[in-house]
Amino acid sequence: MEEKSCGSGYIDFDEAYRLITIDNSYIFDLIASSDRIRNRFKGKSVSLCAIINAKSGGCPEDCAFCSQSLHHKTDIPEYPLIVADQIIDHARDAVTMGAHKIGIVTSGKGINNLNELHRICESINSLKNRVPIHRCASLGILSKDDLLELKGAGLQEYHHNLETARSFFSNVCTTHSYDEDVDTIQSAKAAGLRTCCGGIFGMGETVEQRIELAFTLRELEVDSIPLNFLHPVKGTRLEYTPPLMPLEIIKIIAFYRFVLPDKDIKIAGGREYNLRDLQSLIFAAGANSVMVGNYLTTRGRSYEEDLQMIKDLGLEIVSDSL
Ligand code: SF4
Repeated sequence: MEEKSCGSGYIDFDEAYRLITIDNSYIFDLIASSDRIRNRFKGKSVSLCAIINAKSGGCPEDCAFCSQSLHHKTDIPEYPLIVADQIIDHARDAVTMGAHKIGIVTSGKGINNLNELHRICESINSLKNRVPIHRCASLGILSKDDLLELKGAGLQEYHHNLETARSFFSNVCTTHSYDEDVDTIQSAKAAGLRTCCGGIFGMGETVEQRIELAFTLRELEVDSIPLNFLHPVKGTRLEYTPPLMPLEIIKIIAFYRFVLPDKDIKIAGGREYNLRDLQSLIFAAGANSVMVGNYLTTRGRSYEEDLQMIKDLGLEIVSDSL
């Protein structure tokens, strides 16, 4: 299967199933192989992303995992869209952390009105002129016209997660459709933006549904795949969901490297909570990108620890913007 991933063909469903369900006693054989695939396509490079929670809470959507949904009772801070100077300050902090990419993230199904869109465009334009960092945004479900306007302002990449497999989506969200999410990714591609699209694992989906999501992302030809692992938040519908086991997570990462061998596999939310001392195995498993700093509503570990981990593994941080 390693040879297939390295150039001669696509992993099919049965092969994918064998990989993701491999017995724990073979885990080091699996990651030796996924490490070679990562090395072939990505070398020693690791890219670091940081995010800004630019508008928090008050979302009418009902995503089961989300602390920002009005359907849940959580104690996260709520605030409207922040101003450009605050975004610039966050981006400068991200550069200090070694990040080469910053994602501006807002809560909600999409951008509420033209005024909000124009303010975000101004912030992106200001960022372009003042901070040397790759510019990404995650603003929900948008039309191609909105995405073109953002690109014109200087946006380089659009992030929009599918969250899970189509066959499990109704267990996660009922207020918008899977097709709206898929359309947004296709619109971002059509607008000429790089695309970042992945999901969250550990929400009750089956192994088959983890494979289904990977194959959907392969069909969509997204550039970067953020893998999140549920960190249950008090007050959400998934508050009492049992955590995934660390080795199960390592297998998911390795499996995604096999299925999407030349893409960026990024480890995002839930890394510290779920993997604990096994965090450094994410790179051998196939990750070549990691989110640093805090997440939207949960805290990450210090960026110094992440930089040290990457250095100790003999890997190199990508410093230039794409
Ligand atoms: S994930 Fe996004 S759309 Fe879903 S509830 Fe949270 S903020 Fe709203």
